[in-house]
Amino acid sequence: MHRGSCLCGGVRYELDAAPGRIGLCHCRSCRKSNGSAYAANVAVAEQDFHIVAGAELLKEFESSPGKQRVFCGTCGAPVYSRNEKRRGIVRLRIGLFDTPIQRRPEFHFMVADKAEWDEICDNLPQYPGFEPGRR
Ligand SMILES: [Zn+2]
Ligand SMILES: [Zn+2]
Repeated sequence: MHRGSCLCGGVRYELDAAPGRIGLCHCRSCRKSNGSAYAANVAVAEQDFHIVAGAELLKEFESSPGKQRVFCGTCGAPVYSRNEKRRGIVRLRIGLFDTPIQRRPEFHFMVADKAEWDEICDNLPQYPGFEPGRR
């Protein structure tokens, strides 16, 4: 099992499954919502993901049609996103994990949207849009 929490600690969650493939998203929305070059995301089954504290603190922002970004209303930490086109899946921002993750990032995606000041300095696959086989 994995545990995660936001910056202020008000929101805490548990994940009953091992995280899947870690992707680094360079899209504009992830850059803006994380204030960084990219977001480190992992898709998990919604049924394995449980908010155990601070559900009342969560706020949502629809960053594109049908896509909700869910964040802590106190500290602003991005907790997860969900898309009505991909029901049953939530995407966690793995920087919020408090337990060690064995997996390592496996690919970059939305690279066509990458910040011009950001240089990718690894040999992971880079996809201009979503990765193939996206859940
Ligand atoms: Zn918080
Ligand atoms: Zn993104």
